[in-house]
Amino acid sequence: MPAETKLFRCLNDNYGVLIHDPATGATAAIDAPEAAPIEAALKQTGWKLTDILVTHHHGDHTGGIAALKQKHQCRVVAPKAEAAKIPRVDETVREGDKVSVGKLSANVIETPGHTAGHITYWFHGDKLAFAGDTLFSIGCGRVIEGTMEMMWMSLKKLRDLPGDTKVYCGHEYTLANIKFAQTIEPDNAVLKARAAEAAKQIADGQWTIPTTLDEEKAANPFLRADVPSVAASLGLAGKPATQVFAEIRERKNKF
Ligand SMILES: [Zn+2]
Repeated sequence: MPAETKLFRCLNDNYGVLIHDPATGATAAIDAPEAAPIEAALKQTGWKLTDILVTHHHGDHTGGIAALKQKHQCRVVAPKAEAAKIPRVDETVREGDKVSVGKLSANVIETPGHTAGHITYWFHGDKLAFAGDTLFSIGCGRVIEGTMEMMWMSLKKLRDLPGDTKVYCGHEYTLANIKFAQTIEPDNAVLKARAAEAAKQIADGQWTIPTTLDEEKAANPFLRADVPSVAASLGLAGKPATQVFAEIRERKNKF
């Protein structure tokens, strides 16, 4: 049976999301920004929390773990490289590992850069990827603990997943990301369409995620650092993609 998901907002601009296996009743929270909105989503759906799958150690992704674990005795799965910084971890995972949520199965993809041990959970059977703060809709996370090259390699790994994969990310930054992206590629038609779509979604009180990899590949400048026209628009024609990516990321930091 296909996975069901429930998306909701947490803290200021974080997303929380539940993934549910209707066959077994298992339900995982992807990260736990804070307990209350997750409890509210569980109540609304009638689902029982069995697992928390953590993408990285930042407090706005882990602040709700202790309270949820206390109440639900759920399993907490976290990246091996960051387990010491994450509360109440039961199981650590790394590249190539598989994580089950009932009968659903996720591949662990290491996507360092934002933090040194950041991971993405890819539920290949359901074409869902939970990318935390690595890939955003029309953006990417700040490169805090890793190098620009590391982040570019991580984004390329995600870009290589099937194009119809739906991507859930950790924050609602889409409109600001689009505004920035249009400074790099003002004539990108897919980006223009996305700008109109996202503005309407926000005005209607809807979410701008999940996005799809096909859409991101066409409009997200951070996934397009190796597209010659993108390099040219930055005055970096013929330069290595890592350098182009770094320039885009640095411009976004100052935007
Ligand atoms: Zn973060």
